[in-house]
Amino acid sequence: MIMMNDFKKEQKIVYKSILDAVERVASSGSFVLGSALECFEKLWSSTCGTEFGVGVGNGHDALEISLRSLNIGAGDEVITTPMTAFATVLAILGAGATPVFADIESDTALMSIESVQRCLTSRTKAILLVHLYGQIKNMEDWVMLCETYNLSLIEDCAHAHIAHWRGRPAGSFGKASAFSFYPTKNLGAMGDAGMVVTNDQSLAEKARCLRNYGYHNNKWCMPGGMNSRMDELQASILTEKLKWLDDFTSTRYEIAKKYHASIKNSRISMLSSPEDHRSHVYHLFVVNCEERDDLQAYLLNNGIQTLTHYKIPVHEQGICKTLPRDKFGLSNSIHHSNTCLSLPCHPHMENHEVESVVECINMF
Ligand SMILES: *Cc1c(COP(=O)(O)O)cnc(C)c1O
Repeated sequence: MIMMNDFKKEQKIVYKSILDAVERVASSGSFVLGSALECFEKLWSSTCGTEFGVGVGNGHDALEISLRSLNIGAGDEVITTPMTAFATVLAILGAGATPVFADIESDTALMSIESVQRCLTSRTKAILLVHLYGQIKNMEDWVMLCETYNLSLIEDCAHAHIAHWRGRPAGSFGKASAFSFYPTKNLGAMGDAGMVVTNDQSLAEKARCLRNYGYHNNKWCMPGGMNSRMDELQASILTEKLKWLDDFTSTRYEIAKKYHASIKNSRISMLSSPEDHRSHVYHLFVVNCEERDDLQAYLLNNGIQTLTHYKIPVHEQGICKTLPRDKFGLSNSIHHSNTCLSLPCHPHMENHEVESVVECINMF
């Protein structure tokens, strides 16, 4: 079976480093909020071109803590895309704010700036931008829009570790940016982990309090506090795994390039190629096909696992059906969710596996 991820193969490469990392933490006798986290916070925030990093429990909490640190809550609206992980929207709801859904562009599946403009109201406080599938694009336009309307830009970078827009890394554009290190992400822990990165010192300090019950100046005084700390084991493991991120990301890009060049089937369409190779880190390689379910079954029969990101857009999920949205509708999101299919594109694929995927898709 050609899998969406192959962690067993990955372990063969990183195992020794991981064991060393675990040993260091075990012998340090410090397991939560210690020096391994401080070290990884410094490493990751500088990788993202930001001054501060606050390690938290997961990507969802990184988003919710970002929003809370920006004082976004009840009565405030946050515009985002329905083509994202449910966690993005759950974090907005968790902060007490109202998610508002904008449609996507059909050629990239990224959020449409025209649609976002139609969603603006006097209550809009932030735009939560998701670098979907690992692609970062048009950041000048998003920064400008937020400046014009006095909104906070928040980046959901769960797919976009070390993606760069015109030389600047994902995470460095927002007032606050959220990363997930869930095992399947491009930089994955051996469990749950996340981080808020920012250039704003007071925001970082607030996030540091919120992740630790709202503890501040020896008092539990900050409302909205949670228990969401990245533990020393995950921080130490991520510090080791970061050494491979550049290599693994290049391999993802090479696979994607092969798919772009070699998949030729009139029933299958591709998203547009990125403007430059650093602006897409191919967390996922996604194609569109009107007979998506047939294609998925056919690939599975031929030993190829695929997934759908995302089969049900968030605005059609139970508790989100009545949330506000673009008055022109979300037709691109709906069409994309009905036709999208994510192909295996992970750094441990062999050449012959990539070729098998191409051959099989071309025969469909
Ligand atoms: C994975 C993911 C999250 C949530 O991250 P967790 O660590 O699972 O909480 C948020 N947004 C997007 C786009 C994701 O893919």
